[in-house]
Amino acid sequence: MALTMDLPDESATLEVGAALGRALVAHPAFVTLAGDLGAGKTTLVRAALRALGYSGAVRSPTYTLIESYSFASLTVHHLDCYRLGGDDELDALGFRDLLESGASVLLEWPERVPEKARQADLRVTLTYSGHGRRLEALAKGARGEALLLAWTAEIR
Ligand code: ADP
Ligand code: MG
Repeated sequence: MALTMDLPDESATLEVGAALGRALVAHPAFVTLAGDLGAGKTTLVRAALRALGYSGAVRSPTYTLIESYSFASLTVHHLDCYRLGGDDELDALGFRDLLESGASVLLEWPERVPEKARQADLRVTLTYSGHGRRLEALAKGARGEALLLAWTAEIR
């Protein structure tokens, strides 16, 4: 199952990101966010965290690799793998345990991650399109499909 959407401006990205946040409550999952620098990956994550009730600053974990956010109903781990050195860096982080913990993982720059570590439930790609962006989401497996359905339903 796949979804394609035009996001003509930043507010569109914020709306769709907020909808993703709401959908994650009932459907925690591993989501990868691919796309060039400035495509809107962090903007999407920020909107999702805001929708879940986080009011602090959401920084891109470019140097820290991971930022974790705990809510009453779920935990979200935000990873930025732009500067990832190698496999062992993800291992050192306990990446496998994160995925198995029932938390949601939102990972930017899956292109920089070894193949076996980017088998996400939902693969989102953002691309430049005129002045705006285009979003494509591809679900893999039952968990991904359920999240994509819920996400779609949350977009108003
Ligand atoms: P990334 O994490 O992919 O590198 P960021 O989210 O940090 O990108 O930055 C995206 C930039 O593009 C921000 O300046 C944001 O305001 C802008 N932006 C986000 N969504 C859109 C959109 N749909 N159309 C135009 N500009 C957007
Ligand atoms: Mg980013």
